[in-house]
Amino acid sequence: MRHRTKKSILVAGGAGFVGSHLCDSLLAAGNRVICVDSLLTGSPNNILPLRNNPDFIFIEHDICKEPEIGEPVDQVYNLACPASPPFYQADPIHTMMTSVAGTGNLLRLAERHGATFLQASTSEVYGDPEEHPQREDYWGHVNCTGPRACYDEGKRAAEALCFDSFRAGHVDARVVRIFNTYGPRMQPNDGRIVSNFVVQALRGEPLTIYGNGEQTRSFCYISDLIDGLIRLMNVQRNASLPVNLGNPGEFTVLELAEMILTMIPTRSTVIHKPLPTDDPQRRRPDISRAKQLLRWEPKVPLVEGLAHTIAWFSATLAEKSPAHKKGRRRLPLDHSACLTAGAR
Ligand code: NAD
Ligand code: UDP
Repeated sequence: MRHRTKKSILVAGGAGFVGSHLCDSLLAAGNRVICVDSLLTGSPNNILPLRNNPDFIFIEHDICKEPEIGEPVDQVYNLACPASPPFYQADPIHTMMTSVAGTGNLLRLAERHGATFLQASTSEVYGDPEEHPQREDYWGHVNCTGPRACYDEGKRAAEALCFDSFRAGHVDARVVRIFNTYGPRMQPNDGRIVSNFVVQALRGEPLTIYGNGEQTRSFCYISDLIDGLIRLMNVQRNASLPVNLGNPGEFTVLELAEMILTMIPTRSTVIHKPLPTDDPQRRRPDISRAKQLLRWEPKVPLVEGLAHTIAWFSATLAEKSPAHKKGRRRLPLDHSACLTAGAR
């Protein structure tokens, strides 16, 4: 048998926003990457630059059916699941089945290959939290019959599958609870707050504030999250406990809108729209466990991450604009204002 020099790593959801950045980092570190994705919410463009890499394999596949991988697998990252509320609510039963049946299928695959497993869970397991900030030992406050339940309860069930598999000695499973993460490669029509506000401001459209805008979120830049995911997968001691990964800086929706309007020269204003059902009021991670277990904490302040994100959306939207297609010169956007806004 040929001696393997590289780790072989399966990334389910690898054509998505987070997954494609993870594939990049794993390949850059000298691994072989098998990306399994149904392209439900991901985009082939995200992995286009990887397609000629001999260490990268793409398999278009829905994890609700167990994938067959005809080569050894050392690690499995399960990121496959729509993550934006409009996308995960579009087909809620499929979302729930992706988290439950899909995670079950990938755990079985990991068991057969003897692979370490990392499940992308979410701060949504805390629901509309009554404890603030959220520590991992908080059990959460989730409406199990509402429109967000397909995602929140699906992810909670997936966590239970992982910890049961670990306790039964079947799989070395690790669980990360990801808090709102943003950056380049979010889809312009994704529907989440950062992509919506940036795209709206770049197009000169009003920024859509849901409710009064006093609700808060904590925003983590993509490179910080990727670093945390890889650390959790590779940490020697599996504490068999979930780990929060997120940036503890907490901002209201209105503060985020103001910051983006300062950073992008635009005629945009804000308009208010109804608050979605069960929209959590406050969210901020307690990251003590990640600090202690992984020696991890986020490094990129919001203003810096937003500047990268704005530059990427600006270039992406310009490429798609009719003016650009006709070969006209594109006006560069001035991001110098970013430097004046404060970082938390
Ligand atoms: P995304 O929608 O960009 O990526 C999800 C990927 O999974 C897409 O490429 C999609 O095509 C694929 N997918 C969906 N259902 C599938 C299925 N049944 N079979 C195979 N592939 C499927 O979202 P993202 O922001 O990159 O999120 C990635 C993961 O991280 C998700 O599991 C999400 O729940 C979790 N997460 C993300 C955030 C965040 O802020 N980005 C926060 C919490 C949790
Ligand atoms: N939000 C908003 N305008 C938008 C998109 C989202 O005001 O165009 C609000 C949304 O109501 C929520 C917060 O921003 O309070 C974060 O929403 P997102 O969908 O990004 O993530 P999640 O609710 O899953 O944290």
